[in-house]
Amino acid sequence: MHDEVAAYVLGVLDEDEHEAFERHLDTCERCQAELIELAELPEELDELKNAPAASEDDPPRSMSR
Ligand SMILES: [Zn+2]
Repeated sequence: MHDEVAAYVLGVLDEDEHEAFERHLDTCERCQAELIELAELPEELDELKNAPAASEDDPPRSMSR
């Protein structure tokens, strides 16, 4: 059951498995902690993606000189 945290975060569990895991999650601190860790990953990836995009908003000024 503990192994299903990643599948739960990715949303690939069946409806039954999803409900079963949420019930398990209520009682399992280990899975709650793991869920928080996994939930933070997409944010970190977003930050990495935003870095190059931000530099596109700020074009090199050497062109206007
Ligand atoms: Zn667990």
